[in-house]
Amino acid sequence: MGLSKSFGGTVALTPADLTVDAGEFLVIVGPSGCGKSTLLRLVAGLEEPSAGRILIGERDMTHAAPADRGLAMVFQSYALYPHLTVAENIGFPLRVARRGKAEIAARVREVADLLELGDLLGRRPAALSGGQRQRVSIARAIVREPSVLLLDEPLSNLDAELRVRMRHEFARLHARLGSTMIYVTHDQLEAMTLANRIVVMNAGRIEQVGAPLELYDAP
Ligand code: ADP
Ligand code: ADP
Repeated sequence: MGLSKSFGGTVALTPADLTVDAGEFLVIVGPSGCGKSTLLRLVAGLEEPSAGRILIGERDMTHAAPADRGLAMVFQSYALYPHLTVAENIGFPLRVARRGKAEIAARVREVADLLELGDLLGRRPAALSGGQRQRVSIARAIVREPSVLLLDEPLSNLDAELRVRMRHEFARLHARLGSTMIYVTHDQLEAMTLANRIVVMNAGRIEQVGAPLELYDAP
């Protein structure tokens, strides 16, 4: 709602109004530097807005700490802890939340199975492929069952074949979890295949919002 962000003299996001429906798969698409990540990081609480408000459900989260927003974020760079095993990486948010050991172990197992990581739980990130690392970062993001999952170019470090496969996995995950997904990409094909709704950004501005066919299949 009237959300904007400037860095010094650079306007990363001009005042934007955007409503995301619960359970929706929203994809924000646009060229590099158009403000997609800034919008996502504002929602996540990793940046302070220059103006405007952020509501999640009915609650004003504009100044809430990231951990209190009921959401989780998947980064392009995966941002895994290199010294921790796969199981410890996935369980980390639960450990921070002071859950019991048995509960953490059970939940890690459950999420690892969902993402087909069951055989890799003892490995460290250095011993994983790019696709496996990405699945670990997704597992870590969903382990606390966030109501909103934010994904910042999650496939851009993967090769073409793996990108296709992971696209299908995101669609499957969305169907399974039923959580709201806000997904940032510069790839129009990813936007078309994944989105319920697409937000097209350019130069810090939201230019269009609509269903994939409305935006891209016009004659
Ligand atoms: P995108 O995710 O679409 O590539 P960003 O949201 O990362 O775009 O960036 C939007 C604009 O804001 C760019 O001009 C970028 O250089 C600028 N910007 C982003 N983060 C910062 C920062 N921490 N400091 C200064 N400028 C920034
Ligand atoms: P890019 O936007 O170029 O893909 P990244 O996704 O790697 O860059 O990271 C974006 C920003 O988020 C960086 O400033 C990084 O320091 C920060 N960041 C990365 N991982 C985490 C994390 N787990 N928690 C909080 N901030 C993170």
